[in-house]
Amino acid sequence: MALHMFGNLISRFFKTPPAPPASEPVPLSTGTRSAATEAVREPRRRRPPRATGSSEQRPPRQAEQRTAALVDAPDAPSGKRRRSRGGRGRRKGDEATTPEATLGTGAPTLGPSPRELSFGPVLVSEPVKRALDHMRYESPTPIQELVIDPLLNGEDVVGQAQTGTGKTAGFGIPIAELVDAREAFVQAIVLVPTRELARQVTDEVTEICRYRGTMLVPVYGGARLGPQISALQDGAQVVVGTPGRVIDLLDRGVLRLDKVRLVVLDEADQMLDIGFLPDVRRILRSTPRSRQTALFTATIPTMIKRLIYSYLRDPRTFRVGEEAEPVEQVTQRYCEVASRDKLTALLKVLDEDEQTLVFRRTQDDVDWLVRMLERRRVKAAAIHGGLPQGERNAVMQRFRSGALKLLVSTNLTSRGIDVPTVANVINYDIPESVEEYVHRIGRTARMGREGTALTFVSEWDLDFFDAIKAHVGDDLQPLELGLYTLQETSA
Ligand code: AMP
Repeated sequence: MALHMFGNLISRFFKTPPAPPASEPVPLSTGTRSAATEAVREPRRRRPPRATGSSEQRPPRQAEQRTAALVDAPDAPSGKRRRSRGGRGRRKGDEATTPEATLGTGAPTLGPSPRELSFGPVLVSEPVKRALDHMRYESPTPIQELVIDPLLNGEDVVGQAQTGTGKTAGFGIPIAELVDAREAFVQAIVLVPTRELARQVTDEVTEICRYRGTMLVPVYGGARLGPQISALQDGAQVVVGTPGRVIDLLDRGVLRLDKVRLVVLDEADQMLDIGFLPDVRRILRSTPRSRQTALFTATIPTMIKRLIYSYLRDPRTFRVGEEAEPVEQVTQRYCEVASRDKLTALLKVLDEDEQTLVFRRTQDDVDWLVRMLERRRVKAAAIHGGLPQGERNAVMQRFRSGALKLLVSTNLTSRGIDVPTVANVINYDIPESVEEYVHRIGRTARMGREGTALTFVSEWDLDFFDAIKAHVGDDLQPLELGLYTLQETSA
């Protein structure tokens, strides 16, 4: 297969349409530590130094909110429920903006409440049920059905599930039930690998806690420390953070974890891939031994097994779906295209009315592609770990709201990010492993929707392609773009 394709590509190489302009050289610079470690590991980008201070726009404070803490806007639920890989679920509407600290809205019920209402087979309290109704979650997804009860019973839990299965609410509901909003200290901490996930998880858990009066604070690098510190000093009870910033706040003495009752490690395998293991260990050691620990991961490599063995107590382990299993609703296509023709191919397949996420390997390549698209008057934006956090937040917000249709990204957004309206994923640069492929294409066809994933296969990609094709099989079908059709001339 590989040889056959290589032959095809080589022979076609000489009949290619005009090549797009080459990437422009960019001066070398060094990245900041936080940018390098708190983003998904990306090939280091070369770009001029930028100020790393946050240019983040804080959303306006809302008059009706209860305290001085910044409050999240309510969600905009919409769409009908369908089944997906994760089970039942609704499509979420536009995401709310995430300020530095968030507090559930409405008349809160502080303190524990009896869990008497049914959320499918799971019993939840009235304020949590009210929040779930508001979010239009009618019944739990399979992973929620498995993990909520053990977590509410104080057990340690390992949940093996891909993103998109609803695992955030799987730990968000227990957090809402277990955290006591009358006590002004950190009672639960959720560690996530990326800043974008920190915001997304904060949004969802804030919604679940909206009638509990719980105060959450997302903490991640690249954002101003001041508001995060103020929220902690104001008595935030739940911290959602990336390990680097959590350590920073621990070192400054403003974050204390000595009364934490629940620790959640979300996307644990990705967190360790990025090199956060020493930070995660240190954070776990700053919490009481008596704490409860939940670990969510898509895969369980040896490093994760060791972490589980060292830090979890007789955990109940649950698994939903197969490891590295592409979502059924994604239509998977590949397209043989010489690397110099990829831009032409992209322009050919783009539908400006649909939301599309394009993946490239390096930060420089992402920036280059956005420049080339802009030159052709195609509106697009870039996201990667080399951009200032304020810019990353603003871009994600525009993408979530649907205002931005075309986002070009490194693997930074390949995992966990949940934007239900993404209709297409395009692997402009081929994923370098089956796992990476599955994660990337999982950004579309969220919660039961349809989606398309197109992978460009160039003359350099044949080994990676063979591995992906061997794994995915016949679900991955060729797409002919007609880039290389011979012009027949009649005499
Ligand atoms: P997650 O895997 O946590 O990122 O969740 C994926 C999507 O499922 C998010 O858009 C959630 O809002 C949605 N979701 C989670 N739980 C439920 C539920 N029980 N019912 C409907 N939608 C859900």
